[in-house]
Amino acid sequence: MIERCTVCVIPASFPGVTFDNRGVCSICQKFEAQKEYIPSSALLKHRLLEIIDEARSKKLKYDAVTAFSGGKDSTFLLYILKKEYHLNMLAVTLDNGFMSEHSFKNMRIVLDHLDIDHLIIKPCSGLMKEIFRECIISDIYPEHLTNYGSAICISCIRMVNNMCLRTAIEKNIPLVMLGNSPGQLIQSENEIIYQDNKIPYPLRKRLFKSLADKIGENVYYYLMLGQKEYKTEPFPYIINPYPLIGYNEEEIYRTIDKLGWKKPDDVDPHSTNCRLNSLGIVVHKERLNFHPYDYEMSMLVRLGILSRDQALRRVEDSEGKALELAKEIRGEIMS
Ligand SMILES: [Zn+2]
Repeated sequence: MIERCTVCVIPASFPGVTFDNRGVCSICQKFEAQKEYIPSSALLKHRLLEIIDEARSKKLKYDAVTAFSGGKDSTFLLYILKKEYHLNMLAVTLDNGFMSEHSFKNMRIVLDHLDIDHLIIKPCSGLMKEIFRECIISDIYPEHLTNYGSAICISCIRMVNNMCLRTAIEKNIPLVMLGNSPGQLIQSENEIIYQDNKIPYPLRKRLFKSLADKIGENVYYYLMLGQKEYKTEPFPYIINPYPLIGYNEEEIYRTIDKLGWKKPDDVDPHSTNCRLNSLGIVVHKERLNFHPYDYEMSMLVRLGILSRDQALRRVEDSEGKALELAKEIRGEIMS
């Protein structure tokens, strides 16, 4: 009986996965046959530089909105974009009401150090709680999303992307930079540089219909743009630079340490900024019987970014502290 792939860490409970007689999963087999993670990597790198040059040539107040959670990945991204790509950035933070207090301290220290303007968007907490509550008590997203993350994180990430995009449109900023790790980019290389105005409006709305039915039409504003906003010309580019610029956790920690960033002590060991993370994990495992990080961590193993043992440690049973925190936050949300 296979529990996890012998190469990566994908568990047998992951939807649709099969194993060969060596215990290697179908995702690893497909990855191996495909050989390259990003077939047109060289082209995309060139395209990234082109888009950045074009943005900078406009001499606008800001070249890019950068989603900034205060976590390690977005902190390092800000640093690289400022120091190596010389972008004028507006750091945008979505405060979901459950951010670690320590993480705000990190944000201030890092942004002071890098001399970057900061915009914090904080939606009313009642609505945020209602959204997260629905993520706990019902299945609101389809499998093609929940395979790659918890419903709580999906909701939050959608809001972050949407608020960054809206800010870019309102302030006439040509680029939106996101700090997803290479393992979080899932479907295809089209997720590295794209303009998110191609999906038909009714189709996009359908994704959040179940939430809207339960909580009210008001949620659409936070999760997607309005019809008119999608028609903005020129439409901002969304860029996930990590697969192109390289992702190395040791380098990330080493660099942000020099910026004064400290690992928060008020979150679970697997998050560097959000107190909701552990609850997202617990609920996901209860409802779907696999870890919301299984896919991401297994991809990081395939890419040689993490060893299989390192990845295993991140997807195996949570420590007491994380479970305690999850329990506490569940109480807060359900009350
Ligand atoms: Zn595998």
